[in-house]
Amino acid sequence: MTHDASAHADPLSAAQAAYDAVRARGLKLNMQRGQPSDADFDLSSGLFTALGEDDLQMDGLDLRNYPGGVAGLPSARRLFAEYLDVKPENMVVWNNASLELQAFVLTFALLHGTRTAPQPWVKAPVTPKFIVTVPGYDRHFLLLKTLGFELVAVDMQPDGPDVDAIERLAAQDASIRGVLFVPTYSNPGGETISADKARRLAALQAAAPDFLILADDAYRAHHLGTPPETVNFVALCRDAGHPDRAFVFASTSKITLAGAGLGFVATSEDNVKWLSGYLNAQSIGPNKPEQARHVKFLSRYPGGIDGLMRDHAALIAPKFRAVDETLRAELGEGGEYATWATPGGGYFISLDTTAPVAARVIELAEAAGVSLTPAGATYPEGQDPHNRNIRLAPTRPPVSEVYTAMGVVATCIRLATEEHRAGQGQGRT
Ligand code: PMP
Repeated sequence: MTHDASAHADPLSAAQAAYDAVRARGLKLNMQRGQPSDADFDLSSGLFTALGEDDLQMDGLDLRNYPGGVAGLPSARRLFAEYLDVKPENMVVWNNASLELQAFVLTFALLHGTRTAPQPWVKAPVTPKFIVTVPGYDRHFLLLKTLGFELVAVDMQPDGPDVDAIERLAAQDASIRGVLFVPTYSNPGGETISADKARRLAALQAAAPDFLILADDAYRAHHLGTPPETVNFVALCRDAGHPDRAFVFASTSKITLAGAGLGFVATSEDNVKWLSGYLNAQSIGPNKPEQARHVKFLSRYPGGIDGLMRDHAALIAPKFRAVDETLRAELGEGGEYATWATPGGGYFISLDTTAPVAARVIELAEAAGVSLTPAGATYPEGQDPHNRNIRLAPTRPPVSEVYTAMGVVATCIRLATEEHRAGQGQGRT
């Protein structure tokens, strides 16, 4: 440090001096996107050799040729059915992105309606609406907006979406077609839905005859400690008399290679037929060699997918600890400057500044060489109504950089908060 912060009488000057010192270091660190680290990727290097020149067949199918159908290789459907706790008949295993499958389900419903109510949503007299949770995942908002939906935001609570609000909204408005959210270790807050809330969503009485639960279970196995109880929306919806209500999406993007593996979806057998019918019109089938090498690699990995996820956790848990430790040390635990989540898994830590200064913190951090998720990204239209939420993504940088970056973030939070207080004439004594 070139400046001695304690030499400054008022907290704003002290915070400014600390920030100037940090800025002078000329750092270049990125805590912006939820990406695996190279060490995470290295765990999956066996993928590149999992399929040899002699591996031309799986499940009696020639991997080089078209036949096989659109629902995926039988072995891949079995593997990921077990992962999502359903039967292979409930699975479609597709190509490299679960977001694409989410887009397909929504697009087919817009153009053709659903299995339960085959009237195209686009032909309804009012714009279709979809419920999202906030803070939430910017790509969910982007996808729904791009397809023409109006977004209705409900809060994400510690035990999952605000189901009271969803029940109320869905009951009174038939143009609300469903809810899209992350059921396990949500992006960005790390919340996991409780069994009780999951049951209520499955049983909910909606004005729309075909209200959908789109559960994006991207972090289902991404535990850092004791796993929570996982819910099975396909079974819950079947038992509640709404068998075609749930689609549960996931992918190997945060298991093996990001955007270079397999996206898949679990749903009712009737919905598998519904989805397959439309997929079949646009593709003869997914990439079978990719499915085969994932099956081979993941089933040979010591401990299977669970074993691989334990190895990821060993890499990721120290980074989550680095965020929490640095924030506690720099900002205290009383919430004077900020509060933050300590999730049991997933890829993100959600931080709320106490003063409405999130955008300023992100701007200050950028100028000091630490790139954070853009302000407002966790809200539809990029507009955080409280200007308080910051999504921290610690998985990509090495642990030492996470400590450094979080030290910078804490310094920026102090400065932005003191600027705000000084601007309001509320300087502390
Ligand atoms: N869903 C969530 C909640 C995510 O956080 C991410 C990745 N950041 C994705 C989906 C992307 O998954 P995929 O690569 O399978 O499209």
